[in-house]
Amino acid sequence: MTSTAAADPLAPCVHCGFCLPACPTYLATGDEADSPRGRIVLMRALERGELGSGDAGLVQHLDACLGCRGCEPVCPSGVGYGRGLEMARERLFQERGLPPLARAVLGVFRHQWLWRPLFALARVFRATGIPGLLAGGARAGFGLGMLAATRSDVTLTPSRGRGKGAYPEARPLRSALGNNGDNTTHPTVALFRGCVMDTLFGHVHHATRRTLEANGYRVLEVSGQVCCGALHQHAGDREAARALAAENVAAFAASADYIAVNSAGCGALLKDYGHLLGTAGSQAMAAKVRDISELLADVGPRAGGRLELDVAYDAPCHLQHAQRVHQAPLALLRAIPGLRLDILPGSDRCCGSAGIYSLLRPDMARAVLDDKIAGIAAAAPRPRLVTSGNPGCLMQIGAGLRAAGLDIGVAHPVELLDQSYRAGGLYQ
Ligand code: SF4
Ligand code: SF4
Repeated sequence: MTSTAAADPLAPCVHCGFCLPACPTYLATGDEADSPRGRIVLMRALERGELGSGDAGLVQHLDACLGCRGCEPVCPSGVGYGRGLEMARERLFQERGLPPLARAVLGVFRHQWLWRPLFALARVFRATGIPGLLAGGARAGFGLGMLAATRSDVTLTPSRGRGKGAYPEARPLRSALGNNGDNTTHPTVALFRGCVMDTLFGHVHHATRRTLEANGYRVLEVSGQVCCGALHQHAGDREAARALAAENVAAFAASADYIAVNSAGCGALLKDYGHLLGTAGSQAMAAKVRDISELLADVGPRAGGRLELDVAYDAPCHLQHAQRVHQAPLALLRAIPGLRLDILPGSDRCCGSAGIYSLLRPDMARAVLDDKIAGIAAAAPRPRLVTSGNPGCLMQIGAGLRAAGLDIGVAHPVELLDQSYRAGGLYQ
């Protein structure tokens, strides 16, 4: 992006409309004001003072944007839609604040002492099996389906059965470690734990650690880290995002060669910390951040045992559009012998999760999701699992599959590689 475009990211728009077919909300409503081109006109009007933050139509159409950035890669003019939206939302936040529900949810994610006990309770409830039993298509049932989808759907062994498995105790055999097994020569990786990932997707963190170690990385734990701040940033609360980012920069200072992230939404913001904070420390941290798939693809990854599974890959928006990571997750999945990978039409389109969007605008989120679920249902052969590297996508798609009565699970790609390594005898 040129310096003019960086300062005025929406300026290059020539209103050609090439982005319209890539926009999930435009496809759902057919309304120009729900398209990238229409929203750019609204954002320009906000900038110029032609429309104010009290304009109900403007607020409605900008709020309805998923922030998925699906419009960016198809734009021939290089419009920085995401940056423009960020600036518009920050202005709306400063002038109008947030609706009460958004304020309450973001307030919880601001403090570990609030979200940790809440998610611990959610885990206890999940363990009863009730969320899975009562999951359905109505609003409450869909919410329960989202919680149920946070359990591992990767069958680890027949004796442990679906949904139980984490195997946190398993470690790669010394003989199975990459390189020569001498940890002192291996690149070090600090694991970014996050909030939802650390509390509801602990099994993915275990799989992340094991697969990194099996590929020659030495994994370090970093204390003092907090939620990445992406939810606050997307809502326009830049100050809260900056405060959380500053805590993470302090926690990760000089911690490792790389920082591994297994949540695409968190990774996108962590890679943008340099822009958010503008300090040398934040830029140094951002330069070390890698999606887990990038770290594993960089070294192969090594092959494991066979997994005879039909799997559909769904690309998280914040991995493919925000981070521009396309091939690494596919390389990871293709390293699994026996796994039959399908990339379905529409797999590159947003699922409707978009942080807390599905909570704030459930009807539009479901409208966006429905097409994706229909595509998965029509796939032949029908996948056993849908895999995606972002917790929100796993929850949204998992709940949608349950609501549609489809016996298809969801899994993070690294869980599948982990299971392949187990099948190949790489763990003790
Ligand atoms: S954002 Fe890009 S693709 Fe969309 S109307 Fe503007 S120039 Fe065309
Ligand atoms: S970010 Fe996504 S929802 Fe928003 S205008 Fe772009 S494509 Fe549409």
